[in-house]
Amino acid sequence: MGDTSTLACVELAGKTAIVTGASSGIGASTVRKLREAGVRVVGGARRVERIDADVALPLDVRGEDSARAFVEAAVAELGGIDILYNNAGLALGRAPFWESTEEDEATVIHTNVDGAMRMTRLCLPHIRDGGHILFTGSVAGRQAYPGGASYIAAKFGLRGFVYALREDLLGRPIRITTVDAGLVAGTEFSLVRFKGDAAKAASVYEGVDPITPDEVADCVLFALTRPPHVNVDEIVIKALQQSSGARIVRRAPPPV
Ligand code: NAP
Repeated sequence: MGDTSTLACVELAGKTAIVTGASSGIGASTVRKLREAGVRVVGGARRVERIDADVALPLDVRGEDSARAFVEAAVAELGGIDILYNNAGLALGRAPFWESTEEDEATVIHTNVDGAMRMTRLCLPHIRDGGHILFTGSVAGRQAYPGGASYIAAKFGLRGFVYALREDLLGRPIRITTVDAGLVAGTEFSLVRFKGDAAKAASVYEGVDPITPDEVADCVLFALTRPPHVNVDEIVIKALQQSSGARIVRRAPPPV
């Protein structure tokens, strides 16, 4: 048996990618890093005007028509897909489940779970051999915490889908990776979650050194560049000061 550690890593230059949720946060950072590595990237989101990619296209992952039109246009631009990064997602609310609403639950489940499934199904016929499908999960998809039921259900559901997809694609030359992140600042995640309440959003990161979107993007790039026979199934990345979405040891605020 040879020493596989010396096998060449995957070279990204010249490859093509689709990134969902490219208008902000982790998606925007990943688009930038992929392009720096020589990848031609189509970015999708509803706020298409905010996407800085080789090609920016409107996308609402909750709608089949929107997703289908996006994939058709992206494939016309790219020719074929080497990398699909299913990153679009959101949480709504941080209250006990009895305060949840039908509308918020549907939005969270449809964006995080159905959206990623739909995009994967529509892209799969265009993903070339040697391709790679990645997902942004969350520590919320591994450990529950109070006041996050719909988001926790969605990210647990996403993880179940990814495990099943890996079974169905086993034997085909397509790799699959999920990056499960903890507290990531420098995104609009908490602003969206608290429906525009900037003070509440900022309090999530008080007294903590959170992860940055670039640090999550680095995990994506790490998985992508391993040698072709190596599948990095899951990467779990948390702030040092947290063990879960709920258990966070914060520095005391400075005395006033
Ligand atoms: P963000 O800055 O709010 O970015 C979310 C992205 O998703 C935006 O580009 C948004 O674009 C897009 N999006 C939302 N709904 C969409 C829809 N229906 N169709 C298409 N795109 C949609 O937050 P982020 O932290 O970078 O979030 C990226 C991923 O990381 C999400 O899956 C989130 O669950 C996950 N995550 C975040 C954290 C964190 O602490 N920030 C931790 C763990 C996991 P438009 O609004 O323009 O459509």
